Amino acid sequence: MLEGEIPLKALPRFGDSVFGFEDGAVCRVSLSFSMDSERRRMVTGELAAPVTLECQRCMGPMQQTLVSSFTLGLVTSDEQAQQLPKELEPFLTDDFSADLWSMTEDELLLVLPPFPLHERDKCPARKELEAFEPDDSGDEPVRKSEDNPFSVLADLRTKKH
Ligand SMILES: [Zn+2]
Repeated sequence: MLEGEIPLKALPRFGDSVFGFEDGAVCRVSLSFSMDSERRRMVTGELAAPVTLECQRCMGPMQQTLVSSFTLGLVTSDEQAQQLPKELEPFLTDDFSADLWSMTEDELLLVLPPFPLHERDKCPARKELEAFEPDDSGDEPVRKSEDNPFSVLADLRTKKH
């Protein structure tokens, strides 16, 4: 079992993909190495990295800890990679300890949410949202079906055919 910390500052591709992170923030990594019955080298690992993402609703910063757990098959050639069982993701490396950081960066990029959002009641944009989508608290009368523009559309559709 190998445990360590990688400064996020040292992962520039990842750094470019997030809104930011605190000075001195690190990705905690723990890895264990094993060999399967066919003597394939495998690494099982977990990562955790505290980062700031950009909420896609309010465009403001949001704190999140990215976590990942993964199992990779260590291979030294494409041929070997193709021989791996499907469920095992290949990682091409001649010297895993030298490539540990890029592996970590790849895994972090994989778990980066494509569309990060604050929890709704914590999002500064919720007020504007609520103006557009009245909630179910009951102070907004429920629209009757005649008032619903979509029911008109539905009528048009049925009459056409
Ligand atoms: Zn937000």
